Amino acid sequence: MSGRVALVTGGTRGIGLATVRALAEAGATVVLTGREEAAAREAAAAVPGTVSGVALDVTDPKAVSTVVRGVAKEHGRLDVLVANAGIMEGGMLGMIREDDLDRTLATNVSGTIHTVQAAARAMMRKKTGSIIVLASVVGLQGSAGQSVYAASKAAVANLARSAAKELGRSGIRVNAVAPGVIDTALTAGLGEQVRAANADRTPLGRLGRPEEVAGAITFLAGDQASFITGQVLGVDGGLVP
Ligand code: NDP
Repeated sequence: MSGRVALVTGGTRGIGLATVRALAEAGATVVLTGREEAAAREAAAAVPGTVSGVALDVTDPKAVSTVVRGVAKEHGRLDVLVANAGIMEGGMLGMIREDDLDRTLATNVSGTIHTVQAAARAMMRKKTGSIIVLASVVGLQGSAGQSVYAASKAAVANLARSAAKELGRSGIRVNAVAPGVIDTALTAGLGEQVRAANADRTPLGRLGRPEEVAGAITFLAGDQASFITGQVLGVDGGLVP
């Protein structure tokens, strides 16, 4: 990854931050984003290597375009995008509030699409690049009480498959990772009982760690995955056969 430039959205904690660490450790120059500038800078400062933090709310398409173009301009290139920023709003279908629906789709679907669009534009100049988006096992299998989130992640998986077909001739690979239940702030709110039940139904018998998802993302970002595109890679302890 030496000499490569990577952008990780939602890099202030969890899977995003673990990915920033892994990419920086592999030698990449990494820019991470979070909604608050102070939090983004603080997260970047805590990671060894060439890492910087900038504010970005992915629900703002203009800001997405400005930040992505800014990274490519400042560093002269953009090699890797990890479109990781995402939220999980729960609720049975009949109880879903309109603003939760809007926020989830704006962040997970439109936010990811806008980020991928902007990165692909920047990567096309060099005719090379690797884009990784964050899907989920619930986007592949469905999950009671998570219809909106599951729908948003199904969209992300198919975005990867479709964008890979569009961008392959431009030398840009697009893949998704579909994590199972990973021990982060996002799943902390599920409560101990649900987390234990999830660990129990996972063949490996435990929740995943952010670093384990970061490892798969780093593999897809690099040259070892140079002939892999349009894939949805499960990182789920065996949940999805
Ligand atoms: P966390 O809640 O720990 O982190 C989410 C990150 O996204 C934070 O850095 C947050 O930054 C950022 N973020 C949230 N909303 C926005 C926004 N509108 N604009 C920019 N950044 C935003 O989540 P995880 O690390 O667990 O999840 C990361 C990704 O992986 C998500 O897309 C999630 O759906 C997916 N995933 C997670 C699973 C899990 O079990 N944890 C399973 C399957 C998929 P800040 O708050 O600083 O703005």
